[in-house]
Amino acid sequence: MGKARFTETHYSVCHECLFALAYDEYDGVPPERFGAIRKGVEGLGWVSATGEELGHGSAPCDCCRSYLHGDRYRATKLERVKR
Ligand SMILES: [Zn+2]
Repeated sequence: MGKARFTETHYSVCHECLFALAYDEYDGVPPERFGAIRKGVEGLGWVSATGEELGHGSAPCDCCRSYLHGDRYRATKLERVKR
């Protein structure tokens, strides 16, 4: 057995996606954004939402692709490197 190796991919996600990723919680998500967030969460698969604050950003959310300005948070995906 070799050592497990992982690659880390970092994402910058909006507040709504952070909660959706971390807790599968969609409370307070506007109905018109629900579909995009749900789709984003499914697209990312399993990620660890660490919640580290990245500050106010205008870049689109890596999860729901929202261009709404707002605070961004760190989410990290660990993927095992296959050899
Ligand atoms: Zn988002």
